[in-house]
Amino acid sequence: MTSTSAQNMRKKRGTEPEILLFGLTPRLSQSLKQLFQRNHYIVHVENVLDHALSLVQTSEISVVLYDQDSKEAKDWNFIRRCSKLISHPSIIALTRENSVQNIRALFGQGAIDCLIKPPRPQSLMGAVEKGIETRTAKIYGIKDVLTGLYNRYAFKEILRQEIDRAQRYDRHLSLLMIDIDHFKSVNDLFGHVIGDQVLEEFSDILKSAFRKTDIITRFGGEEFAIILPETTIGHATMLAERIRKSIEEYNYSHLVGKKKITVSIGISNYHTPGQKSDATLIHSADKALFAAKKEGRNKVCISV
Ligand code: GH3
Ligand code: MG
Ligand code: MG
Repeated sequence: MTSTSAQNMRKKRGTEPEILLFGLTPRLSQSLKQLFQRNHYIVHVENVLDHALSLVQTSEISVVLYDQDSKEAKDWNFIRRCSKLISHPSIIALTRENSVQNIRALFGQGAIDCLIKPPRPQSLMGAVEKGIETRTAKIYGIKDVLTGLYNRYAFKEILRQEIDRAQRYDRHLSLLMIDIDHFKSVNDLFGHVIGDQVLEEFSDILKSAFRKTDIITRFGGEEFAIILPETTIGHATMLAERIRKSIEEYNYSHLVGKKKITVSIGISNYHTPGQKSDATLIHSADKALFAAKKEGRNKVCISV
């Protein structure tokens, strides 16, 4: 498929890709912004390193166009740090220095392509389209196809990163394990297709209920794990209770008639003794979830 037809198709579907221009001079930034907007991209412009990293982490940016010669971007760490983010952006470097050593170093840091300044619009668009494809392939490996949420593999990786952060900077961290009650009966009564639709709508409720920095994942089947960085056990409990209630009150009648959909939730917290590793945090949240089921379901329980 040509770049232009791919762009038109995305525009029709309302899935315009997002691109970040980082550290470009105002003049270059302005002209490239216009070029990408004309080609139906959503364009972000950023010049501060930390702002750029947090934007990439919390958005759906597919490609980061980065100017190696800018003051802020002189810091080599940018590519390395950016390419390690779980949102897997494709990084394309613009540079004045076309030596083999420099280009090799850029690739070594994690850039997927490198263009000499000023880039020709056609080469640039080609590189960016390739960047989108590369990122899509990576994301499909870490996201669940039915719900669009991170899969279990990504969950484990992100949890380990967040535990590291909580430990290094002494931050709060909580984990919710959510399991839909008696979900088997939804399949038994209405069939798997409706069961899948309930799971999709259920995931949309989760997506709209949490902050952008919370990480919502499909742990497996009808179980979901939510990583809550910077969240105390008290706050996590309030959040879990709010979610439990909104699931209970949501109207699924177009799918399952009068049948009620409810969830049980178990909570663990990094600052509770014995919950310092990924395995113990998961195990503790799972035990709390089991207690919620035993107490009659549609309940929230905390691991102690
Ligand atoms: P409990 O309250 O104890 O959690 O009961 P439950 O019925 O939810 O638990 P159980 O583990 O017995 O059954 C889970 C069901 O979830 C069985 C399985 O068929 C269904 N399920 C898991 N993944 C999917 C899916 O992707 N689509 C559909 N339609 N069903 C799924
Ligand atoms: Mg289950
Ligand atoms: Mg269940």
